[in-house]
Amino acid sequence: MTLSSERQLGKCSLCGRYPPVYLRRYSGERLCARCFNESIEMRVRRTISKYDLLKPFDRIAVGVSGGKDSLSLLKILQRIERDFPRATLEAVLVDEGIPVYREESMRIAEEFASSLGVELTKVSFKELFGFTLAEAVESGAAKELGLQPCTICGVLRRKALTLAAKRIGATVVAMAHTLDDVVQTYLLNLLRGEARIQPLGLRREAEGVIPRATPFRLIPEREVVFYAYLNKVPYQTHTCPYAHTSMRDPIRLFLTSYEERYPGSLYAFLNSFEKMLLTRKPREEENRCEICGEPTNRRICRACEIEMKIREKLRR
Ligand code: SF4
Ligand code: ZN
Ligand code: ZN
Repeated sequence: MTLSSERQLGKCSLCGRYPPVYLRRYSGERLCARCFNESIEMRVRRTISKYDLLKPFDRIAVGVSGGKDSLSLLKILQRIERDFPRATLEAVLVDEGIPVYREESMRIAEEFASSLGVELTKVSFKELFGFTLAEAVESGAAKELGLQPCTICGVLRRKALTLAAKRIGATVVAMAHTLDDVVQTYLLNLLRGEARIQPLGLRREAEGVIPRATPFRLIPEREVVFYAYLNKVPYQTHTCPYAHTSMRDPIRLFLTSYEERYPGSLYAFLNSFEKMLLTRKPREEENRCEICGEPTNRRICRACEIEMKIREKLRR
């Protein structure tokens, strides 16, 4: 919740000098802009060290979409990178081929990365898989296969990011998933009846696999949004034309209103759920996809399967 009246709320709880601009409901702190920014950057640092997300010699690929979350992550990591003088940072962007929406976000991401002096590598569905998301949806192929646009987009974007990270020799992919995103994903997995839910974005090293790291995993979405606003991180004006098909949306709405009523619930869920996941006996041996070699519990991973099926439909 943002605040406007200094008279009403006094001074910042941390420095006691400046007027507060943000009320952190789960802790009761009222923060001025400077203390808010510092607290977010400090929390990212602590998250990285708590989960050992980044290493001193990493070549970090930051997955950017052009949205405020990923650009905020790029900005913060670029500052934090100074703590890791031997690490390098590059942005990677996936163009799924969503007219207007992705074109705008690509332009924003390119301009922002260049303003930070960070190199950006682009890959596209068309180049990697032979079709754009719009072609897969508008041709009717997605519908015939019973796949929602967001399912194809999410699964193939993950594969595309891995391919882009391999292309630039990255040792880790940093994703801008916030606390809200991580909890939503766990709930979605539970609701889909997934048998083996894996911890999300907690760097797990495995032969031939580029690990993922989520430095925003303890930061609520609304705080990332406010950070972006305070730091003039550009935002998109167009929304994705397929957003209404997302299975994540109802869960996001539920969790947002629940957190609003009972502040701190998202943290509580993440903590207890991950404790449970991390105390589970690890699987003896992880299966690898016969086509791409990525870990999967099937013979052929979902990304390779979706890619092949859509290509086949489009060929007809
Ligand atoms: Fe992809 Fe769905 Fe997000 Fe659009 S709303 S970018 S289709 S995941
Ligand atoms: Zn302050
Ligand atoms: Zn595969």
